[in-house]
Amino acid sequence: MSTDSRACDAVVVGAGFAGLCMLHRLRGIGLTARVFEAGTGVGGTWFWNRYPGARCDVESLEYSYQFSDELQQEWEWTERYASQPEILRYLNHVADRFDLRRDITLQTRVASATFDETANRWTVRTDAGDEVSARFFIMATGCLSSTNTPAIPGRETFAGPMLHTGRWPHEPVDFTGKRVAVIGTGSSAIQAIPLIAEQAAHLTVFQRTANFSVPAQNRPLAAEEQRAIKRDYADLRGRGAQMAFGFDTRSSELSALAVSAAERQAEYEDRWAQGGLPFLGSYADMLFDRAANATAADFIRGKIRALVRDPAVADVLTPKGIVGCKRLCSDTDYFATFNRPNVTLVALAASPIEAITEGGVRTAAALHEVDCIVFATGFDAMTGPLLRVDIRGRGGRTLRDKWAEGPRTYLGLSSAGFPNLFIITGPGSPSVLSNMVPSIEQHANWIAACVAWMDARGLRRIEASPEAEDAWVAHVNEVADATLYPSCNSWYLGSNIPGKPRVFMPYLGFPAYVEKCAQVAAGGYEGFALA
Ligand code: FAD
Ligand code: NAP
Repeated sequence: MSTDSRACDAVVVGAGFAGLCMLHRLRGIGLTARVFEAGTGVGGTWFWNRYPGARCDVESLEYSYQFSDELQQEWEWTERYASQPEILRYLNHVADRFDLRRDITLQTRVASATFDETANRWTVRTDAGDEVSARFFIMATGCLSSTNTPAIPGRETFAGPMLHTGRWPHEPVDFTGKRVAVIGTGSSAIQAIPLIAEQAAHLTVFQRTANFSVPAQNRPLAAEEQRAIKRDYADLRGRGAQMAFGFDTRSSELSALAVSAAERQAEYEDRWAQGGLPFLGSYADMLFDRAANATAADFIRGKIRALVRDPAVADVLTPKGIVGCKRLCSDTDYFATFNRPNVTLVALAASPIEAITEGGVRTAAALHEVDCIVFATGFDAMTGPLLRVDIRGRGGRTLRDKWAEGPRTYLGLSSAGFPNLFIITGPGSPSVLSNMVPSIEQHANWIAACVAWMDARGLRRIEASPEAEDAWVAHVNEVADATLYPSCNSWYLGSNIPGKPRVFMPYLGFPAYVEKCAQVAAGGYEGFALA
């Protein structure tokens, strides 16, 4: 174990769900670790995304840690889908309950990390001038932590406040009496729009691509319902672990095309009434077969037409593509919000944004005067936070250079040429195509077990072999190519960021992935070179 205060066994970057859990696991195997977090508090996603309506869309009882039975028994969730303040309270409770804060340095961004091949150590430097030497360098930087604010001409001339959903201010934002613009109609916008519309004098929504959304059917969690789950929590966790997305989607094994239209309608109505993302579990071929998918897409389109009174507005809000190809959204009163007299929908497909002016947003068709602009324009997902750090592996090669044509990893956990670097929920792992908390825990457990195994054998270096990495990348692509995911533009493919290579980044299939990771470990870390 290291004794020098500027040296430790591991540096962990980020103090969200992943960083907190990783720190706890490393301590559990007797290692010293330092966590650096750019924010002024712990919580990651739930620290930064404070916009109105922010909440999880995987049920709270599943979107939570399972590493401590005491924790999962004692924490009481108040709603089916917890709000951002509640999840942030939970993560702060975790930090206190497991005494994590003493190893976390806040308000400090890791700027670079360089591998020393002789010492088998990483030298990690921060923007605050820290320099720390560590055996392991663990990126818990999140998939959705680098915000994307499009470079719209004239942005700097706007006279009023400009906010991004992913960097929301800590003090309350009051839209009363204001004319507000929201740019974007992804998950964040779909949660924020109904609440902003209630407060603002006028809300103008700038939509580039219409999105599929299903009602969350959020509600308070009844004490008895929560007690019943907690009596056999392992049952719920076990069911989730068997599902492709790592949570209980009540997935059917039937094809949508093997049942009658009336049966399908009943199934979709039932899932719509139950609410949330398990809508995608209705049929096994939903994400594999265009005709099967079209039955669900048409069902949602019908719902939009029924919910939105003005047929012209309904038409603009109706998505044309494949449901689930972009991440499915889950909402409370999103479509009905467009019935309000103080809400205007602007279809950018017909008239793109040309500029932001001092007083508003100008499209090819009109100038929309507003007092405030909300960018709900998403993130440079998955690779963004990793590549913002200057990571240099063997031979001084940078990760940015290696990934110039798209990310390449073995199991999403590791990249050839970068020994002793681990990535939590990296590209090539189920990550954003799964309930992320179990995915994060599975990675933290795997990494801790791997390090403990190495230490027991006096091994100092682990590195993915190029062959294992190539085979894994090919497998990730093969799995993706069998689905409908590559057929649209989504942030899963990097296509929301101009110039980003078009590569499908996450791996579909939580259970198969967990099994593969377990096999690799059981086989003495197959596919890795150990020294
Ligand atoms: P994060 O929570 O993103 O934490 C990473 C941390 O690393 C950040 O705090 C960041 O500041 C820090 N960091 C990054 N780079 C550096 C650096 N160089 N130096 C220092 N610190 C750095 N997933 C689900 O499964 N279900 C949901 O319902 C769900 N809802 C979501 C809602 C929103 C609004 C968003 C944006 C995402 C949602 N997600 C959801 C995905 C969510 O990101 C993950 O579930 C999870 O919170 C990720 O945790 P993490 O610790 O891996 O990353
Ligand atoms: P997003 O899904 O990437 O949505 C961004 C929106 O901004 C899209 O509508 C996009 O349009 C639009 N946009 C981007 N650049 C634009 C430009 N230059 N001009 C006009 N419009 C532009 O981002 P997000 O809504 O923040 O969500 C990201 C992910 O975070 C989600 O997919 C989900 O995984 C997670 N999340 C989850 C929840 C939840 O319910 N629990 C809530 C929020 C976020 P195009 O579609 O045309 O690109």
